[in-house]
Amino acid sequence: MLLLCVGCTVGQVPTDPVRPTPNVVAAVKMRFAEMQALSFETDVEYCGYLLRMPDESLGFSQMVRGGHDGCTPELPNPGSTLLASMHTHGSYDPEVPAEFPTVIDIDSDKRERVNGFVATPGGRLWFIDSRALRITQLCGVNCLPQDPFFQPGDDGVIAQSYTRAELIKLERGL
Ligand SMILES: [Zn+2]
Repeated sequence: MLLLCVGCTVGQVPTDPVRPTPNVVAAVKMRFAEMQALSFETDVEYCGYLLRMPDESLGFSQMVRGGHDGCTPELPNPGSTLLASMHTHGSYDPEVPAEFPTVIDIDSDKRERVNGFVATPGGRLWFIDSRALRITQLCGVNCLPQDPFFQPGDDGVIAQSYTRAELIKLERGL
């Protein structure tokens, strides 16, 4: 459910946060397809970073296996640049609201000065804009691989987008 900040603690110099262009979204979706499968098998979160490689192409840091409610990505080798964090929300659990990013997810990205992408058990893909402090669904249920046990509706009606303030209210209401 949360992504712990690592870049900020070691003083990594961030660049401009990445925008979710069609190119970026396509690359992120492919990477999440692998991470979702691992998350459903193991029932834990997986995380990593979207990177700008030294040759300017997009790349990814090594996928890291986290826990039930958190994951700390490894920093990449020097030369590549952090563009955005990525993490899954594990497998479906009827007791745990996991279909949207948390306030902690937003705050962690803000501290690292990267944007973020979050994949949910239902197969939603969210974008965290850590400057605007807003989360937006890039695509809805089933657009990424979905946990076969997923039951829609547990988290109530989920809007297309929330500000950080709205998300605080949503989390309090659940
Ligand atoms: Zn999260």
